[in-house]
Amino acid sequence: MAQGKHSKPATRLVSAGRRAEWTGVPGLPGGMVNPPVWRGSTHLYQDSADLARGRPNEDGHFYYGRRGAPTQWALAEALTELEPGAAGTQLYPSGVAAIAGALLSVLRSGDVLLMTDNAYEPSRAMARGLLRDAGIETRWFDPLDPDAYRAQFCERTKAVLLESPGSLSMEVCDIPALAAIARERGAASLIDNTWASPLGFKALAQGCDLSIMSLTKHVGGHSDLMMGSVSATPAHFARLRRTSQQLGQVVSPDDAALALRGLRTLSLRLERETSSALQVAEWLAGRAEIARVLCPMLPGAPGHELWARDFTGGCGLLSFILKGRDESARARLIDALALFGIGFSWGGYESLAIPFDPAHTRSATPWPPAGWDPADRLGVRLSIGLEDPSDLIADLDQAFAAMERG
Ligand SMILES: *Cc1c(COP(=O)(O)O)cnc(C)c1O
Repeated sequence: MAQGKHSKPATRLVSAGRRAEWTGVPGLPGGMVNPPVWRGSTHLYQDSADLARGRPNEDGHFYYGRRGAPTQWALAEALTELEPGAAGTQLYPSGVAAIAGALLSVLRSGDVLLMTDNAYEPSRAMARGLLRDAGIETRWFDPLDPDAYRAQFCERTKAVLLESPGSLSMEVCDIPALAAIARERGAASLIDNTWASPLGFKALAQGCDLSIMSLTKHVGGHSDLMMGSVSATPAHFARLRRTSQQLGQVVSPDDAALALRGLRTLSLRLERETSSALQVAEWLAGRAEIARVLCPMLPGAPGHELWARDFTGGCGLLSFILKGRDESARARLIDALALFGIGFSWGGYESLAIPFDPAHTRSATPWPPAGWDPADRLGVRLSIGLEDPSDLIADLDQAFAAMERG
């Protein structure tokens, strides 16, 4: 497609990855809008000389099904075009596989990983299991305390895993500062950028080396696929690709086509979810049953200033902490919701609610945080979908009434 590298993200979302040679057939004039779903394990070579030439490690050439076909190449290329500073993108069968692929590409036995204390729980589990068994030690840090983070580096620290806003608790940290400290110390910065996507946070431009996303969430957007991606700088991409090839990572062409379809409407959906989430957050902030609204897009909420400084967009994911209620009250609230499903995942077109309790998943920081009333500790996370926000607010209103009725 004729498209400027400098066009705005919404424009790039439409044209990204749509190479004429992937959407058309040589000899037939014109082409289709989208690349076809290329199902295939086997690429046929023209003759022995063609086979002998081989291109096992070149992108954009048929080789064998595990190296993909235009359906997957178009998705990977589109994601690279959306991430300023990226040399390329690798696709994985889930977000967790993407996190594993990224970590294993920068860490070796004997290395130390610094992981933010508000990381997605399966990332923490990976540190305690797979990484520990591979001889990699993980140390957790408080994402809001750059001095303590700096003091934790040692000779063996080879990577840091960042996430902002943090899973569930939504802390926003100073990513440019933390990434700069890692670079000074010779460690790679990885970020789980699922919440913002490159539309909301340009991770590599802000100093990170590898940007990880669960495409299951915003990019898929319709709760019908699992996938992950890692986009990397030129210095890190070759090793990322080699690691993912050696792990045998591949995504199905059907899922890649669904993810590409989701990608085309990403900016529209994120804008709508952000504006609805903000209306819900403002309404929640005025409720007597709530101690804190954890939504960095909300002026006055924790992390808002850094969010406003570094981010160019938000999404529909936010949390709140009940004021002194018990678990049965929280269950009454969640069970009374009619428009919110109860489920993990988020970023789909439908709204979801889930209870959370970070107290069990903290290593470097207390929960509730210092300065909070210890009675205010039970959380609810909402994923705001595409419903009319006034209906969602009315639903929350009647659910709070049901909670208080007991
Ligand atoms: C869901 C999620 C993941 C994992 O993605 P899957 O596709 O479910 O494996 C990673 N990071 C964050 C922040 C997530 O919310």
